[in-house]
Amino acid sequence: MQLSETQLSILKLIDLHQEISRKELAARTGLSQAAVTNITKELIEQKYILAKGERSSSGPGRKEVLLQSNPERFQYLGIDIGGYRVRFAISDNNLNVLHYLDTPMAEYKDEPDKLAALVRRIHAFLQEREVTPGSLDAIGIGVTGIVNADLTHILNIPNVNKWDDLPIVAELQAAFGCPVFLEEGGRTMALAEKLVGKAKEVDNFIVVHFGKGIVAGLMINDQILRGASNVGGLLGHITVDEKGPRCMCGNYGCLEMYGPFQIIDERYEDKGGAYANLLEAYEKQDKTALDYCIEAGNAIGIALSNVVNLFNPRYIYVGGHLFESLPLVLDEMKRTIRMRANRFANIILNVEKNSFGDREGIYGALILAKSKLIF
Ligand SMILES: [Zn+2]
Repeated sequence: MQLSETQLSILKLIDLHQEISRKELAARTGLSQAAVTNITKELIEQKYILAKGERSSSGPGRKEVLLQSNPERFQYLGIDIGGYRVRFAISDNNLNVLHYLDTPMAEYKDEPDKLAALVRRIHAFLQEREVTPGSLDAIGIGVTGIVNADLTHILNIPNVNKWDDLPIVAELQAAFGCPVFLEEGGRTMALAEKLVGKAKEVDNFIVVHFGKGIVAGLMINDQILRGASNVGGLLGHITVDEKGPRCMCGNYGCLEMYGPFQIIDERYEDKGGAYANLLEAYEKQDKTALDYCIEAGNAIGIALSNVVNLFNPRYIYVGGHLFESLPLVLDEMKRTIRMRANRFANIILNVEKNSFGDREGIYGALILAKSKLIF
C-alpha cells in the first residue's frame, strides 16, 4: 500500500469504529481538524473510505459527516484449514461474508498433491459463486497445525496425514496472483477478537476453541505469543494427566485426549451408554455422560489454570461445539479455574463466549488477509 503511517492510523480508526466523524478522529489521534480533513480527503479520493450519513452535532443546526470504510475497496478470500473441516469464505472489505463453503478434510485423503487439490477446490468454489480469481485482493489462511517461523509453510497438521512441509503461500500466490498470508489458526482467532471482536480494548487475553480438536491463541501485552520457533501456545498438548493415554504427538495425557467433543463422545460410546449418542444422553442427564463432561471440563480447567497463572489474562474467550452442546463442560471448566488458578489472577479474569461462535476461524482468516494487506 502506498499510504503513510498517519494515513494508515486514520484508516485503521475508521475501520475499527465502523462510523466515525472527523471531529472524533481529531480527538482520538491528537491531530488538528485541518490535518484530519486533508487526510480523509485523500482516503476518499483513493476510495479507501466513504463519507456517508450524517448525524446532529453539538451547536445549532450543525451536522457531522460520518466516515466509513469502503466495503468495495478490497475483496478477500479466507481459508480455515482444520483437522476435520476446510472452510472457505469470500468477504468484502468490511468483512461481510459474501460466499461461504464448509467442506470435509477427508476430501483430500487420497490426493497425492494436497496443494494442487486445494487450488482446484478454490477454483471450483470461485467458479460456482461467479467470482473471478483476479478480483481477490488478498488471501488469508489459518491452519490448525504447525506453521514455520517465516509463515510460508504448513509444517504439520496433527490428526491429518501428509499435510507436511507444504509451501502453501508460494503455491497459492502463483495460482491466484495476489498476496497470500498464513498463520496458525488459534492466532487468527485472537486477531479476529482483537480487530473486529470483543477484545478491541483488551491487551491480555486468550481465545480457546473446542470442537473436534483444540485451538488456542494468546495475546499478551497486545502481541500474539509465538515463542522462539513459532510453536508457542499449543494448548491442546499441555499435559493434564501424566498417566493418561498416549497422544498423537507422542506425549501422554495431553489435553487433546480429554477436551474435544468427539473424544467425550467416543468414550461415552465405548462405555456402551444407554442412549443412542452423547447429546441424547446428556439431555436425559445420563450419569455416564455427565461424568465425562465433568472430567473434560476439569481437564480443560486444569490446563487453563496453568495458562492463567503464567500469563495473567483479563479475558478468556471460549467457543466451539463442545461448549455450545454441553454447557456443563463450561461450568466445570470455570469452577476448576476458580479453584486452581491464583486468586490474584482470578480477581480480574473473565470467561466469556467468543464473538463469532463456530465461525471464529474463518473470520480469523479473513481478518488476517485484511490486516496484513492494509495495516
Ligand atoms: Zn499431544
